[in-house]
Amino acid sequence: MTAKKIASETLDFILASCKASHPHEFGALLEADGDVITNIIYLPGTTATDESVSLNTWMLPNMKHAGSIHSHPNGAIYPSEEDLIFFQAGDINLIVGHPYNRTSWKAFDRSGNKVSIEIVDYDFQDDLMDDEMDDDF
Ligand SMILES: [Zn+2]
Repeated sequence: MTAKKIASETLDFILASCKASHPHEFGALLEADGDVITNIIYLPGTTATDESVSLNTWMLPNMKHAGSIHSHPNGAIYPSEEDLIFFQAGDINLIVGHPYNRTSWKAFDRSGNKVSIEIVDYDFQDDLMDDEMDDDF
């Protein structure tokens, strides 16, 4: 199922993470509950420079994910040629540009077409009981 929504708290966390990484790029995979993006999966092996995030490790074939998110410290909110190749690996791909606020991000599909993602309130209560979450935190 392709994600069409993002939890507002998750978006805020993503924006804060991008801001914290500035002037370097931030990159992670997206996790969805149904059609709502609820979490990001940060890969410790991801190397970031001011030029680009190393995308190779994101393409792990067995990794279940809803898509990707990465930041553009230069503020451009459109995919680079490299991005377009990488986007083919995930249904929804977010690009967050400097200054990392709620109006400086866009979502793209596998083909690099802009798609709209609705920001929604999401109840995280159930997830707190999740074993997976306990392992992560
Ligand atoms: Zn990019």
